[in-house]
Amino acid sequence: MHRSWLEVSLGQIAANFRAIRKTVGPGIAVMPVVKADAYRHGAVEVSRTLEEAGARWLAVSNVHEGIVLRESGITSNVLVMADFLPSSRPLFLDYNLTPAIHSLEGIRDYERLARNAGRTANYHLKIDTGMGRLGTRATAAEILNEIAGTHAARLEGLMTHFASAPNYDRPQTDEQVATFTEVLQHLRAGGVHPAFFHLSSTVPIAYQRREAWGNLVRPGHAIYGYVSPVKGQAPAQSLDVHPALTWKATVLEVKDIPAGAPVGYGAIHTTSKPARIAILAAGYADGYPHRLSNKGRVLIQNTVASVIGAVSMDVTTIDVSHVEVRPGDPVTLLGANENESIDAQQIARLAGTISYSVLCGISSRVPRFYV
Ligand SMILES: *Cc1c(COP(=O)(O)O)cnc(C)c1O
Repeated sequence: MHRSWLEVSLGQIAANFRAIRKTVGPGIAVMPVVKADAYRHGAVEVSRTLEEAGARWLAVSNVHEGIVLRESGITSNVLVMADFLPSSRPLFLDYNLTPAIHSLEGIRDYERLARNAGRTANYHLKIDTGMGRLGTRATAAEILNEIAGTHAARLEGLMTHFASAPNYDRPQTDEQVATFTEVLQHLRAGGVHPAFFHLSSTVPIAYQRREAWGNLVRPGHAIYGYVSPVKGQAPAQSLDVHPALTWKATVLEVKDIPAGAPVGYGAIHTTSKPARIAILAAGYADGYPHRLSNKGRVLIQNTVASVIGAVSMDVTTIDVSHVEVRPGDPVTLLGANENESIDAQQIARLAGTISYSVLCGISSRVPRFYV
């Protein structure tokens, strides 16, 4: 028995991958994003499942995440999206990882490294088309000029990332697509033909922004069963994916308290009538958001119970006046019972955060099981 634990369905992960492939069609490759321990679903197990399901590309954030995959026998192409630090650069060659390079200076440095190693090495160039984060803002002419001097480092892909994909009230995504297309056309006119060109994460895939699919897409959230809601007039959501992760906690203690009793740190809840409370073995150190204090809902048997008082580091208190519960019983923090479900998006709304942060915030001290 565990204090709290995750149950991950690898079958659902594979089904979500197949659904994405079906949506984009046969001409477009799918590169699942397994950074941040596969949004806490387990990078190695998820990557093995996706490889078996036919993925030829995987994406991570940093070289160490890439090395973990290599050391567990993953042979797919691995794109490392946000770690071209000087100290990481030699590791790309050692572990056959593909960097996303985001500056002309980076290309020069990678060329020198590959040449010194007496080999060729592929990279993807990330361009900043308006997000104002990682990516070079160099012109196509400057990029062509830089590439003309390289022989060992090879431009295999051109990529960018959207700042506001879920916002259909603003033209930013269309503008970013236009800028990307212009740079790609200039490169081609200059004789440079990257094999892959990619822009889209989950939202532009799910809402059919076909002009942004290039010939490779990078879904993360959708692999785990989530598609964020959008703002404004968007085409219908056309991707059938379902959450793969359930999070359960064990009841440590059940007890009756009188009316007028304060509950937990800061006494932010006081009972208005006699109540039966249960103390769950999960708190914010496990990743259950502190912002769910007095707000969270959990599933217990076939009903719902409310979080009362402050979520503490290791425990959370719920009101179980309406349900028979005993110490040792499981309670669902994230998941479904016969009548209700609570997913990461609902938790995020209650906690004033985003579903990504809820998933990635589940602590490594919560053990994970595959079902
Ligand atoms: C995280 C990330 C993705 C995946 O985004 P989702 O919204 O989870 O699909 C794609 N591309 C880049 C560059 C990322 O950093």
